[in-house]
Amino acid sequence: MTPEEVIKFIHDEGVEIIDLKFTDVPGTLQHVGVPPNEVNEDLFAYGTGFDGSSIRGFQTIDESDMLIVPDASTANIDPVYKIKTLSLLCNIRDPLTGADYSRDPRNIAKKAEAHLKSTGIGDTSFWGPEAEFFIFDSASFSQDSHSSHHSVDSDEGIWNSGNEYMLDGKGRLLPVPPVDTLSDIRSEMVIEMQKFGMKIEKHHHEVATAGQGEIDIVYDTLVKTADNIMIYKYLVKNVAARHGKTATFMPKPLFDDNGTGMHTHQSIWKDGGRNAFYDAEDSERLSSVARHFIAGLLRHAREISAVTNQWVNSYKRLVPNFEAPVHVTWATVNRADLVRVPSYKPGREESRRVEFRSPDPACNPYLAFSVMLAAGLEGIEKKYELPDPTGADVFDMTDAERKAHGIESLPSNLLEALRITEESELVRNALGDSVFKSFVENKKIDWERYRSQVTDYEIARYLPTL
Ligand code: GLN
Ligand code: MG
Ligand code: MG
Ligand code: MG
Repeated sequence: MTPEEVIKFIHDEGVEIIDLKFTDVPGTLQHVGVPPNEVNEDLFAYGTGFDGSSIRGFQTIDESDMLIVPDASTANIDPVYKIKTLSLLCNIRDPLTGADYSRDPRNIAKKAEAHLKSTGIGDTSFWGPEAEFFIFDSASFSQDSHSSHHSVDSDEGIWNSGNEYMLDGKGRLLPVPPVDTLSDIRSEMVIEMQKFGMKIEKHHHEVATAGQGEIDIVYDTLVKTADNIMIYKYLVKNVAARHGKTATFMPKPLFDDNGTGMHTHQSIWKDGGRNAFYDAEDSERLSSVARHFIAGLLRHAREISAVTNQWVNSYKRLVPNFEAPVHVTWATVNRADLVRVPSYKPGREESRRVEFRSPDPACNPYLAFSVMLAAGLEGIEKKYELPDPTGADVFDMTDAERKAHGIESLPSNLLEALRITEESELVRNALGDSVFKSFVENKKIDWERYRSQVTDYEIARYLPTL
């Protein structure tokens, strides 16, 4: 919709509240509600004021006034509220200069899109995230109460024997109800997402022992897809809450079970509708642009990790045996690799794409997509050589063998990730100086708080014997 159409729609449809939403730097959706009389051409042109000092990653107290300016093209009825509400995603502006705010993640993502255009490599990029989540019966959840679930799956190791990723207690990927108890809730999430203007491809149970799901959004451009992920998370959580349950995008809520990832499919398009990752002449139908892009993702994977996997908990997912990547490798089939090139659908040029598998959905999607694009573009611009795909399973190699093959590993914790990120020109350029600095500083504080915790693991292991 255009601003005029939104104003008319509010009037015609009897909308009672307009919910203005934006995203803070860590990636949490924020909102203010305004009544219809406040929504006019001025609002779309100049925005409405709010106190930026209370928003994480925004202004300091002495420079706290900010403007939120709604983007009319994001207007949708918001099904979360009882009151008839129209949702609008907003851009943030500096009231002094009127300029787009440098710390607004959506603005950073727009700059990433503009940068792609300026390189001449492509007109646009497409993003297809597979965001997973858990649905728990309550938020005050403990590992102990969960462990009772394990017993119900005791025969499934038989069916899955031979599949090293599904050894104990797994196998709940796609069975119908009554095994899959959350199908109706996921369907309801899909229906709400469609009402919100999103195109959905499918939903399904995920592989973790109980309660894990995935809903796949049809791919779209970078900012649009980041917008979609923000609304996706909002609706997943709110529909679960409607049923008295808690949905979470925490990357690894359960020890010894699959974590929650957000595999991200990506491609670059040019000349008004040609997939730059496709090459009819190539045996893999993969262009040299795509190969350099993959090489860029691989070379910079470690330094963008702090953004694609931004929490202490994110690194507990990136361990062997749970279909999450650990080592910096690529392949066309293996599902343990960091980059996978999904099988080509004959005749479907548009389906040629690259899947980057380390991100988790607790990232800020605006920032995460921006650094992934920067990494891939760097590979194209500098013509990085793509190493051979990994054949043998890298997990079976010893550290020494991996080293001999030149295979690096993703950071094993947030501190290691931050130490690499803080040296990264690529991430600094993609996020802009001020977000880059505050991001690294804040994450270090998180790490410091975490590392002084005394965990159950330590109590159980050390207290009785030391
Ligand atoms: N949950 C797995 C992860 O952490 C992915 C499982 C899958 O979709 N194949 O990335
Ligand atoms: Mg999937
Ligand atoms: Mg999945
Ligand atoms: Mg996938």
